[in-house]
Amino acid sequence: MSTFFLFCYGCCFGSLIGATSARYARQESPFYPGSHCDTCQIPLQPWQLVPVLSYLYQRGRCQTCGAAIPRQVLILELVGGWLATTIMGPATLLTVIWFYLWIYASLCDKATQTFPGIISWLSLPVLLWPFGFPIWGLASIWLIGVHLLWSHLSQPPIGDGDLEFIGLYGLAFGLPTTAWWLLTACLLALLTHRWFSGRIALIPYLTISALVWWLWS
Ligand SMILES: [Zn+2]
Repeated sequence: MSTFFLFCYGCCFGSLIGATSARYARQESPFYPGSHCDTCQIPLQPWQLVPVLSYLYQRGRCQTCGAAIPRQVLILELVGGWLATTIMGPATLLTVIWFYLWIYASLCDKATQTFPGIISWLSLPVLLWPFGFPIWGLASIWLIGVHLLWSHLSQPPIGDGDLEFIGLYGLAFGLPTTAWWLLTACLLALLTHRWFSGRIALIPYLTISALVWWLWS
């Protein structure tokens, strides 16, 4: 039964991640206005905010204007729900929070090639919790150093957020694991790059690769 409740809570977090990342992409406040249809702007009824069920009941369409609700909304809610159930085993609460943070960053990065810098800082204690203050200090120096250096580069070869993510991951898991993780992410990015134009948003691939390696281990 507790697995069911965890799934329900996780679906809510998935829904929240989807909604707030979409607002970040549109440069809107995460708090105002309330939840509404992106096409007709009609505020949603409380029952339309119930994750998964409201999407299924409305058959993926706005009840007012009939506009399609992105399938990504449903997928995010289900993934959020599934991730929460892994707290029962094999994951820990920190692992799940870490994935929530980087799924949010992935969606922001995919839409805008940026994400809120606070995500790196929030993920620092979450990922490096067992390592204590010396590694936290090193990670903080890494984040500040990348930020300061990148603010002086006009055309950096890689995004500062990508480098922050890679540095934190490396500190937590060591060089060999990080190398395999990075290779998987880059291969995924290269294989799917033909569907995108311009620069590759790397955070989604880094997050997917982390998820793949976590499931593998
Ligand atoms: Zn609508």
